[in-house]
Amino acid sequence: TSTASSSAPVAHNALPPPSTASAARSSRIAPHSHIKGLGLTPEGYANVESAGFVGQTNAREACGVVVDLVKLRKFSGRALLLVGAPGTGKTALALAVSHELGAKVPFCPMVGSEVYSTEVKKTEVLAEAFRRAIGLRIKETKEVYEGEVTELTPTESENPLSGYGKTVSHVVVGLKTARGTKQLRMDPTIYEAILKEKIVVGDVIYIEANTGAVKRAGRSDAYASSYDLESETYVPLPKGDVHKRKELVQDVTLGDLDAANARPQGGQDIMSVMGSLVKSGRTEVTDKLRREVNKVVKGYVDQGVAEVVPGVVFIDEVHMLDIECFTYLNALLESPMAPTVIFATNRGNSLVRGTTDIVSPHGIPVDLLDRCLIVKTDGYRREQVAKVVHLRANIEGLKLGEGVLDKLAEQGEKSSLRYALQLLTPASILASLVGRTQIELEDVGEINELFLDAKTSAAMIGDSTGSSEV
Ligand code: ATP
Repeated sequence: TSTASSSAPVAHNALPPPSTASAARSSRIAPHSHIKGLGLTPEGYANVESAGFVGQTNAREACGVVVDLVKLRKFSGRALLLVGAPGTGKTALALAVSHELGAKVPFCPMVGSEVYSTEVKKTEVLAEAFRRAIGLRIKETKEVYEGEVTELTPTESENPLSGYGKTVSHVVVGLKTARGTKQLRMDPTIYEAILKEKIVVGDVIYIEANTGAVKRAGRSDAYASSYDLESETYVPLPKGDVHKRKELVQDVTLGDLDAANARPQGGQDIMSVMGSLVKSGRTEVTDKLRREVNKVVKGYVDQGVAEVVPGVVFIDEVHMLDIECFTYLNALLESPMAPTVIFATNRGNSLVRGTTDIVSPHGIPVDLLDRCLIVKTDGYRREQVAKVVHLRANIEGLKLGEGVLDKLAEQGEKSSLRYALQLLTPASILASLVGRTQIELEDVGEINELFLDAKTSAAMIGDSTGSSEV
């Protein structure tokens, strides 16, 4: 067994933690997980059922044209406006457009009313959404150490700062591969990681040299194999050194980089470096900071380290925006790094918010409307509702008893597709309460006794107050 010693720079990984905003975003996308794309033929025609879509063929074909325009770079400065009743698939279409633009293209959905926050300026909310819809694919060559742990020896020394107590000054980690054993003298931050991961002698681990991230690859009986970072599978341990280089690809958005720079954390990997351009410890994302981030990103793109991946920003209920937001949107649409912009609304002519006398189609000022391609979504027939409900039940692993699909489809036709889909979960809970795994008609019946669809509830209030206005 040969023994060598080397020291490795170790620092905390500075990738920003997932924000609550991104958690909210993924929960918004989850109900559309059956949508894989627009489901068009190579000639651009919509198959009646394809890629998770049922019907809505005109709108899908129109969206396909928009995808082509975006790919040909003929859509800049413009936007797509989807118009149709609630639950007719506007969000699903926007998501499908992002899928059609490529794998891992960012999709950033928001609702118009989100701009009205007490903490953040309206225009900031919009600017952030646009930044989160621009992806950056960073190709990074990482150095990793991997092998079976043969020793873990923390060296304690007097704490020079406090004057008392001991502190870990460095840790010696022994790693054994097929070729031999190497002793690494590591930064103390790795000790926390080792304790946290409960790593003991005999584990097969890998350590990212730059970030000090430690992962267990398996127990020593898995010694003959090792964990591959990219494929996330066990592969035979390389015959080479314990120290290797791996090309890793990381997908982030400009919004992530802005946030990382607003609270820089230090470190040596690309995210940390890009997250510490501004050392002032500021916590707010400003235009100046965004410009600096852009400059660095441009540098990385020029060096071939990173690639810009423009995504899709989707603003639902766009009629909720006010004149100030619309003016700002015009400017955002003009910017050279703008994502594809998709709006949706279910309003006809309405007052433009923030004005007292401007009535405009969909509550959108005409100068912005002029930039929009407008696509209408249609309502669904009963059998179409049934097909979508069937798709979702399959995805959610729910079994439907005799007649349940028909009943849900009937209700969906009466109120909306969304309503029919939303009945699935409570009905499955009722079923499980009585120990069944399958939803039966009686569950749907009970749900209908407990809850109302919008039309029924409105009608009932109208009756009891003697007025039909709600
Ligand atoms: P809103 O205006 O209320 O936001 P929407 O028009 O955006 O509604 P979606 O949220 O896209 O409607 O649709 C409701 C649900 O139905 C989603 O789960 C969506 O994936 C699904 N859905 C809608 N249309 C179709 C379709 N044609 N094929 C398959 N699934 C669909």
